[in-house]
Amino acid sequence: QAHLDGIAKLNPRINAYITVTAEKALAQAAESDARRKRGDARALEGIPLAIKDLFCTAGTETTAGSRILKGFVPPYESTVSQKLLDDGAVFLGKANLDEFAMGSSNTTSAAGPVENPWSRANDPDTRLVPGGSSGGSAAAVAARMALGATATDTGGSIRQPAAFCGIAGIKPTYGRCSRFGVVAFASSLDQAGPVARTVEDCALLLKSMSGYDPKDSTSADMPVPDFAAACRRGVKGLRIGVPKEYRLDGLAPEIAALWDQGLAWLREQGAEMVEISLPHTKYALPTYYIVAPAEASSNLARYDGVRFGSRVTEPGSDLRDLYERTRAAGFGQEVKRRIMIGTYVLSAGYYDAYYLKAQKIRALIRRDFEEAFRTVDAIVTPATPSAAFGMDEKQDDPVTMYLNDVFTVTANLAGLPGLAVPAGLDGQGLPLGLQVIGRAFDEESVFAVGRAIE
Ligand code: GLN
Repeated sequence: QAHLDGIAKLNPRINAYITVTAEKALAQAAESDARRKRGDARALEGIPLAIKDLFCTAGTETTAGSRILKGFVPPYESTVSQKLLDDGAVFLGKANLDEFAMGSSNTTSAAGPVENPWSRANDPDTRLVPGGSSGGSAAAVAARMALGATATDTGGSIRQPAAFCGIAGIKPTYGRCSRFGVVAFASSLDQAGPVARTVEDCALLLKSMSGYDPKDSTSADMPVPDFAAACRRGVKGLRIGVPKEYRLDGLAPEIAALWDQGLAWLREQGAEMVEISLPHTKYALPTYYIVAPAEASSNLARYDGVRFGSRVTEPGSDLRDLYERTRAAGFGQEVKRRIMIGTYVLSAGYYDAYYLKAQKIRALIRRDFEEAFRTVDAIVTPATPSAAFGMDEKQDDPVTMYLNDVFTVTANLAGLPGLAVPAGLDGQGLPLGLQVIGRAFDEESVFAVGRAIE
């Protein structure tokens, strides 16, 4: 009830929730209370969470932040949200996001933009973005409108909003969490994960969300370790890689200083710093912005006005006209841009020059990491090139927006776990985050390093 009261008070300004399921939440909380009284409490008993509106929730509208899915009420629950329910969690509602998770600012949602809770409430000139695409999830947690939230990360959508909102968030190894029931953006990059106030809260949530699922053919049949215990391992003797290619020309001095500070903390706690090279880093953004739109253009072909959500027809419309009208009215500008780019790079004349080339470079980026992880146990970098920016910034030029993802897309291209840890404040008092990248399925080292920085 306290969280619902907080939502009633703050959500009109912050817009972190698209849908609030107050009645359902109180019913689930009552069941939690009853189980607790019986001495039958589960791992997340009674913990109030926000669910990114990209996860299908049985009986509750799921929009993916798009007009085209308005009115879509899934008949089934995503595996990840079902696992959280099975562990006793309470769902407060569906969190806002960039349309189909495409964006870094949560300004492309059909439900309107989300405001970063760190904006100064009385000064309309400082309305800041919460990051994206999981901006609603991160803002809900930062504003105490949820204790944690589910999120997804295709190129940084868990880590960048976590960093902008001063909280923690982890994109686990590709295959760790099932994608069943998560609206697809770019299937070879998409991963679900949690955002929460602390690294250890993320560890507890991730434990519940993880595990093999026969309903997702890319789900990994791997044991799920006790991530919370890993948080308390310490970093003594760990080798931390510091990739020289991430020292970008023009890296903001306060980001460089934060990075050095994080490394100093790790050194004090007994870790060893090792300079490493990830030589193909400079190709990561162009590679990502070919692969992701290509997969998106294919995944979004299913929104045709026949099977899901809204439909636009005119008397006398034929089938083609129905597709065109529905998609023209249902998709926003950024989604249309991605579909156009994706269709272009996959088209017969350009496939070899763009898509195939991007896949080859993706393999080289993955190999860079494999090479580095022969000598180090984890890699530490900044999470973002800046603190949260203003809502009106970067809106005219999509490329400027895409540059925001420079530190995060590599982990998705390589399928590796990446954690954003709140690590300090910039000159204006806005939160900044560091990123910890680990070996595939070694989230434990990532949590140990993250906890040591936090
Ligand atoms: N900002 C990136 C994009 O716009 C990543 C989004 C995401 O991770 N879902 O594609």
